[in-house]
Amino acid sequence: MNLNTISNNNLPLFSKINVIEIENNVNLSIDKLEKDFKELENKMENASKDYYKLCVYELEKINYPLHYYWGVISHLTGVKNNEELRKVFDKVQPDIIKSGNTIAQSKILFECFENAKKQKLNGIQKRIVEHNLLSMTLSGVNLDKDKKKIYLDTQLKLGDLETKFKNNVLDAIKDYKMIIKKDENMKQLPINALELYSENALKNKMKSTPNDGPWVVSLDSPSLIPFLTYYPDSKKRKKLYKESIKKASYGDYNNTELIYEILDLQQKNAELLGYKNYVEVSLVEKIGTEKKINKLLNNISKKAKKKGKEDIQEIKDHFKLKKLDYWDIPYYIEKLRKEKLDFDEENFREYLVFENVLNGLFELSNKLFDITIKEVNVISENIDIWNNDVKFFRVYDNSDLNNEIASFYLDPYVRPEEKKGGAWMDECVGRNKILKHKPVAYLVLNGTPPLNSKPSLMTIREMETLFHEFGHGLQHMLTNVIEGEASGINGIEWDAVELPSQFMENWCYHKKTLMSFAKHYQTGKLLPEELYNKLIEQKTFQVANGINRQIYFSMLDLYVYSNKIDDIYKAEKKIAGKYLVKNIDKEDRFLCSFEHIFSGGYSAGYYSYTWAEIMSLDAFSAFEEVGLDNDEKVKEMGMKFRNTILAKGGGTNPLKVFKEFRGRDTNSDAYMKNYGLL
Ligand code: ZN
Repeated sequence: MNLNTISNNNLPLFSKINVIEIENNVNLSIDKLEKDFKELENKMENASKDYYKLCVYELEKINYPLHYYWGVISHLTGVKNNEELRKVFDKVQPDIIKSGNTIAQSKILFECFENAKKQKLNGIQKRIVEHNLLSMTLSGVNLDKDKKKIYLDTQLKLGDLETKFKNNVLDAIKDYKMIIKKDENMKQLPINALELYSENALKNKMKSTPNDGPWVVSLDSPSLIPFLTYYPDSKKRKKLYKESIKKASYGDYNNTELIYEILDLQQKNAELLGYKNYVEVSLVEKIGTEKKINKLLNNISKKAKKKGKEDIQEIKDHFKLKKLDYWDIPYYIEKLRKEKLDFDEENFREYLVFENVLNGLFELSNKLFDITIKEVNVISENIDIWNNDVKFFRVYDNSDLNNEIASFYLDPYVRPEEKKGGAWMDECVGRNKILKHKPVAYLVLNGTPPLNSKPSLMTIREMETLFHEFGHGLQHMLTNVIEGEASGINGIEWDAVELPSQFMENWCYHKKTLMSFAKHYQTGKLLPEELYNKLIEQKTFQVANGINRQIYFSMLDLYVYSNKIDDIYKAEKKIAGKYLVKNIDKEDRFLCSFEHIFSGGYSAGYYSYTWAEIMSLDAFSAFEEVGLDNDEKVKEMGMKFRNTILAKGGGTNPLKVFKEFRGRDTNSDAYMKNYGLL
């Protein structure tokens, strides 16, 4: 089959993709895959050797055309969306999932993996086989007919409940509006918040301007957070806060009963698979264990609670307050920040020119990992791109500057009309010996574009995001693993994936690195020392209660998925009492909008955020220990990082890889130090 979308160097021909042909192409590919898979099953049944080759390599080969094509289409829905494309995507996606399930439920394939396990395999291959056996087991392949039916029905029901949960949160948010007319207090809010509230008003058919209102404030974070942070009247903050903590817990969009149902169904399916509870199911595919997570987080909690209490006391003392309610905390933190640090992000921005930051990042990569990155002229080299702002780069090992080891696309600027929000790294092509592929990555950002004859000036968060996604990209591109299923980020446990990405973020705050590219866009002058110091200071300013909150969420998640819960609100109160420095409001119904664990794929896995941060800071501290300004030592450590964490992908257990890099198991010392908790 010729899908007519791949050029001879394995790069997608985006401009050749015709929306009208997608459905037909996918259907043809699925038919072909199903036919090929039947034949492969036949071969597997009759095989007496070469099991690994059959269940891994042969399967990879027949999966590849659809996998690649669908990867390109999915990418386009993220960066060049339109209604036509979305319609086709939604229409054919269920068929793709169905065809994937057919393979995941194949008893013959499962047995072939079991036979492969008995073959002589290297460590990477062993892990690939074990991963497949585990994920097929978790999809119910071994259950008898009746139980399998119950299991799959329950999974379907869970899918529905998750969608309902998410929609209830969305609808509850949509349902509430605080309308503000003529109000001098609004002058205290930043202009981008006023623009947002005014836009909300226009959407509600009111005549509005950002400066004179009326304004509509809603319960979603981009709207809620600036209001709680800057609006000076406590009564109005209280009203909005109270609405926000009970959203989706009453009226038409009540998630309470859904939570009981979800917990109940997850428990039932866990038992069907032979596990005690859903936490066990979730953790079996991760590197975290209940014991380790509890130990690590409780350890941090002890110190963070102490610091959190001090932080609250500092605010009370400074502003001579008798009490400090939840709806007043963000407001006073911001006020204190202004008085103590006088940090204005806008001043900083003029030093973060996108092109300079990018070149600084490439120079850093050269220094740390011995690689050179060169931009490719997409026109003269005939590289198809989906938007004119997209850049294409080749990555070379410094030992050979003629043959690239990998390449990547970079789509830097925001395009709300067709691009999804947020930022991500995705695989375009993965390293694979069977298919003879070198890695190609997509790096997609939503940065500030060049405006009014100014170059693109980045916010601090945008700079961090570039480093973050590039860190994911490095792991994808610098992999040494040649088995497709374990190369790059493939096969890495969920709670270890964010290690290289968060690791790279730390370099944004390293003085020498930052000063190598932070030059004023007009004068070319280097970032003033004073601004740099403020940047470092504000990083740890009043952060302890944010940490306490993350630990509370992590523990609440594990608690509800491992205990029989008769009253979710009691559970919430109990865990909050243990991990927060201040009792939650009696009207707090946070679980009803905790999408991460009831509809976002983080169920019994929310701890991963803190866990990955601990590992990444621990890795970075290895560089601090040898001296961040000692170029020779830093390079040595960088190469060690490249040869372990970036190179070994999903082929080795991440805890083992970490130990190889660090010479010991991971611990939270660096995390504590970073947040001033020692
Ligand atoms: Zn990430």
